Amino acid sequence: MTTCNECASFFPLEDDPSTGDCVQRVVDPRQAYYKAKPVEDATDASKCDQFKKK
Ligand code: SF4
Repeated sequence: MTTCNECASFFPLEDDPSTGDCVQRVVDPRQAYYKAKPVEDATDASKCDQFKKK
């Protein structure tokens, strides 16, 4: 199974690498910004359309 841990957007926490942030660059017509949401490294990435291999 492909997991968030293998994704270029996954940034593990230093004190607990089994969890981390999924950080996405969002570009809309007026601005670009980063959006972070908490994820676990073992989260199934096969259903994620933002997955990018590290
Ligand atoms: S939720 Fe999707 S984009 Fe975010 S880290 Fe997991 S696979 Fe990558």
